[in-house]
Amino acid sequence: MILADFIVVNDNGLYCPYGGFYLDPKLPVQHAVISHAHGDHAVSANTNVYCTEPTSAFMTLRYGKLAAKQFHLYCFRQTFTIGQVQLTLISAGHMLGSAQVLMEYQGTRYLYTGDYKVQPDATCDPIEWVKTDVLITETTFADPKTQHPDPVTEIKKLNDIKSNILLGAYALGKSQRLINLINTHCPQKKVLVHHRIMPVNLIYERFGFSPGNYQMYGRKLMKEQKEYVYLVPPFTFESYFKATGVKRLFASGWKNLQANQNDALFISDHVDWNDILQCIKFAEPKQVWTLHGDGRQLKAHLDGDIEVKLLG
Ligand SMILES: [Zn+2]
Ligand SMILES: [Zn+2]
Repeated sequence: MILADFIVVNDNGLYCPYGGFYLDPKLPVQHAVISHAHGDHAVSANTNVYCTEPTSAFMTLRYGKLAAKQFHLYCFRQTFTIGQVQLTLISAGHMLGSAQVLMEYQGTRYLYTGDYKVQPDATCDPIEWVKTDVLITETTFADPKTQHPDPVTEIKKLNDIKSNILLGAYALGKSQRLINLINTHCPQKKVLVHHRIMPVNLIYERFGFSPGNYQMYGRKLMKEQKEYVYLVPPFTFESYFKATGVKRLFASGWKNLQANQNDALFISDHVDWNDILQCIKFAEPKQVWTLHGDGRQLKAHLDGDIEVKLLG
């Protein structure tokens, strides 16, 4: 039997009253199951944090001692319990360490996807598909008009640019995926990395997911020749808005983050409309509960087949 109140939303975030834990809480709590290390999912100062080892490493890099009072680390597919609920972390394919959270209680399966991605990505484990009774999915891009282009086609746009490139991207996850894509599909380009991205790369390497070849940015380097791609976090990207002699590009699935339409690099680490439908087809849920973005189009699309509840 599906319990309508198995996951409820309160001021701290998504709460499971049967296990006494939160999923990616927005404020610090006693028991936090953290799907992945992006800042909107992993806040500091939780007491007990249940996550994968890479997620704990990224959180510790960002928050130091405030990352958690106590980490409880699990591999994918390893089962553990909190309260009355049995939990299993399942690879989400979104970034290194990213997990879906499978929760089983009284014979019913609830799967929280966190952020997830179907597109191939050599810098993290691929998504694993599982069956579930309730699919709790993000709907960041749950719009039939959103179909992410092929990331290889997108990255190959860099080959047509004959000047040095300033490439803005989130430091965690996206940057490493970009380094790997540039190494693979733009072999003549040399990647320079902003110093803020360097420690993230080192964690990737420690866990056996080397992004590829890159070197730390140095002021003189870009004067020498024209095949450099200088990868910088969003804040630095914005502050270089007057930069001359370089082409500025921002890599994101979000149309509104692009400097302009001609300079768009649409590389997303989220599922698009078709990916969500593919996931639902495989998971065969009896109910879909939606989070982030807007679940209304999904609700309309599945009307009559699968009950859809908008959690937030
Ligand atoms: Zn994320
Ligand atoms: Zn997110």
